[in-house]
Amino acid sequence: MSSGSTKPYNSFEAAQQQFDAVAERLELDRPARELLRSPVREYSFSIPTRMDDGSVRIFRGFRVQHNDARGPAKGGLRFHPLETLDTVRALAMWMTWKCAVVDIPLGGAKGGVVCDPHDLSLGEQERLCRGFVRQIAPNLGPNVDVPAPDVMTSSQHMLWMLDEYETLRGERLPGFITGKPVGMGGSLGRTEATGYGVVFTIREALKELGLRADGTRASVQGFGNVAQYAIELFGQLGGTVTCVACWDQREQAAFSYRKRDGVDLAELRSVTDRFGGIDQARARELGYEVLPDSAWLEQEVEILIPAALENQIHRDNVESIHPAVKVIAEGANGPTGPKADEDLHSRGIFVIPDFLANAGGVTCSYFEQVQSNANYYWARDEVLGNLDLKMTAAYIAVSDLARRRELAMRDAAYEIAVTRVAKACRDRGWV
Ligand code: GLU
Repeated sequence: MSSGSTKPYNSFEAAQQQFDAVAERLELDRPARELLRSPVREYSFSIPTRMDDGSVRIFRGFRVQHNDARGPAKGGLRFHPLETLDTVRALAMWMTWKCAVVDIPLGGAKGGVVCDPHDLSLGEQERLCRGFVRQIAPNLGPNVDVPAPDVMTSSQHMLWMLDEYETLRGERLPGFITGKPVGMGGSLGRTEATGYGVVFTIREALKELGLRADGTRASVQGFGNVAQYAIELFGQLGGTVTCVACWDQREQAAFSYRKRDGVDLAELRSVTDRFGGIDQARARELGYEVLPDSAWLEQEVEILIPAALENQIHRDNVESIHPAVKVIAEGANGPTGPKADEDLHSRGIFVIPDFLANAGGVTCSYFEQVQSNANYYWARDEVLGNLDLKMTAAYIAVSDLARRRELAMRDAAYEIAVTRVAKACRDRGWV
């Protein structure tokens, strides 16, 4: 899953490049550009963690707050062996645009720990979570910066972190973190929210393009939290997912799993580990064709849903996308490299950009904060109904602007988001 080009891909450079282009179009003044093209604060630290065998391992942790002019910084926390500060910077910046495009009163942040949770026992993961909080607690808080789950982190990780923070502070502060378990301050619908939100935007895009969801095919990269719930709701709309690409921990490689008449979500879940990795041998037994990693991109489907990691569609593989593909819904953050993005545009493929398509997670996190603050919890239908309203309104605002000004959806989403954040910075007198 790498770009294969000579200079290693750098997500932060890609995010800055996207920002510079929109800043130019919006004719932002120099201070606003300078402020917004880099994070306002970033923390990089060591987390000494006691392992089960009694030894101590030092993990590297990051938290980056890109901008908090519109409200407390907000964003997930990833556990990944290849995590870098630059990737976290890019993801923090995209969080700022994400919260702004759906118009929730939050800024953007992201965190990461360089680790592979597959190799850590639950006890070790708990101590790592608590260690993370101890290192950064003074710089987090319900009104400062609010973490959430992301790649390979779950509601259990959030609860350990909350418990550590509340213990340090000596009070209950459920607004410290979102994505908490239901019954422990979490919101119903939060787990499904990102994947469902992706499908709300697909539904709107299909309407706009005059296509019916019914009978439409999709191929998905990833089988984590975002992908699984996108597959679920897409199926409920009458669509068929024919291929899923995902990591196989035992083989230490990714593969695509295909069933031409449609993958069965429950069946695939039964052969999946808790990090969304599919066991290849067991999938084969269930009748799935096991294809190379790249096959998900080459399928004859109308919709592609990259819902794994950044830079998965890039200059070296963009041409292998099948001519049948009409829509790409970016479930992951930053799955399309800049050159590939240009190619998709010139091929007329309709891209629903990441920070719009996958904004359902943070929007539901915002609902979770509202519920936690009121200490009154909504029914699941109310959460998902409000999520649909918010996502659909954001989609329509972006697509109206895109049509009116003949912009790509990504450019229109950027214009709306950057304008809102720049205005907040100006109104506060920062620039
Ligand atoms: N990690 C999710 C994202 O990338 C959600 C962040 C949040 O809920 O704060 O959007």
